[in-house]
Amino acid sequence: MLKVVKFGGSSLADANQFRKVADIIRSEPCRRYVVASAPGKRSKDDEKVTDMLFACYNRVKDGEGVNDVFEKIEQRYQGIIDELGLHIDMQPDFDNIKSAILSYAGRDYVASRGEYLNSKILAAYLGFDFIDAEKGIFFDESGRLDADRTDAVLSAILSEHEYAVVPGFYGSMPNGTIKTFSRGGSDITGSIVARAANADIYENWTDVSGMLMVDPRCVSDPEPIDCITYRELRELSYMGATVMHEEAIFPVRVSGIPINIRNTNDPSAPGTMIVPQTDRPARHTITGIAGKKGFSAISIEKDMLKAREGFCRKTLEVLEDNDIRFEHIPSGIDTMTFVVPTAQITGKKDAVTSAIIKTVAPDIITINDELALIAVVGRGMVRTQGTAVKVFKALADRDINVRMIDQGSSEINIIVGIDEKDYENALDAIYREFVK
Ligand code: ASP
Repeated sequence: MLKVVKFGGSSLADANQFRKVADIIRSEPCRRYVVASAPGKRSKDDEKVTDMLFACYNRVKDGEGVNDVFEKIEQRYQGIIDELGLHIDMQPDFDNIKSAILSYAGRDYVASRGEYLNSKILAAYLGFDFIDAEKGIFFDESGRLDADRTDAVLSAILSEHEYAVVPGFYGSMPNGTIKTFSRGGSDITGSIVARAANADIYENWTDVSGMLMVDPRCVSDPEPIDCITYRELRELSYMGATVMHEEAIFPVRVSGIPINIRNTNDPSAPGTMIVPQTDRPARHTITGIAGKKGFSAISIEKDMLKAREGFCRKTLEVLEDNDIRFEHIPSGIDTMTFVVPTAQITGKKDAVTSAIIKTVAPDIITINDELALIAVVGRGMVRTQGTAVKVFKALADRDINVRMIDQGSSEINIIVGIDEKDYENALDAIYREFVK
């Protein structure tokens, strides 16, 4: 058994959190490879080290000094070192990083130093080796992860270390400069390391006991999800559910490695298992509900629309020409609706309308804003009758008007479009209908 464990910023925010992390790692010797984030917030008003590093970068860019901010960063780390009673000297690292920042080092390099320093300290505390991510995680010329090269090189490096800490969030470009993933990207590093180590499981330790069935800011006290498939997670995270970086499932998906979301502050909680597939029956017909506000519907009507060649393609070309990405295209007999993010169509409505009129001459074209989309997701929905009925009954019972319906062909997802003002109420209605 081999586990790769990733700890997020809140799990490594101070010396006390470091102690919890070390206890977790030492409690199972199979937890051999550790991926660490930079120190996160210790309280609501605290600052993340990554944000302070970005501040340093911006200061230098604007011709200002960084002494005060950099000193705070040094103190954060030195505080952890001192409180843990470690006898390591990080001053040379601090000095190198500071002088690189002052000599206009790249933005990604500066941002990445948070995980670099934290991982070095964690490695010293655990007595593990330190493997710099720049040696084993590679991007290609276009800035995309070079998955094959990374996997080959990183596997070889890992095989030479029995126990090691790898900093999250960054790797290197073909010319050797540092590049980071997008924010929260240490989750991706964890997944890459799990794949390269051929781990049995990728544990992602954070500050919640797994994923909840619905956003707790909208619905009170939702149940946790014990087990979810990659596919279901993908649908939910696309629609806004956040527990992990959206792209973190891709590396482990290649080898079918399960991910376990765990809570550093409550290590006995089983958390959420994210698995390639499962025969385990879902506790409820639905696994989770997620949604987003801020969509617009471009509705087009034309007699005999379906018989007209290229109608959809030509309309999509207009959207593409205007840099607008569509989300859904529900259609009726003589109607077609293109659901798009409002932010992308703002300021372009007249141009888009006239281009569509010119290209496909619709009988009617309207654009309506303030649409929210809700995805009801669950593997239990496949071949279960009556799920859609329950969703619509729940909404009807609360007088919520359904403006759009879309069921993906995978049958694990029903998407409804409603007015933004009904959003929270709709989430609550659907949740209560399935989870009594
Ligand atoms: N420290 C980085 C951030 O704040 C990356 C991470 O924590 O995953 O986004």
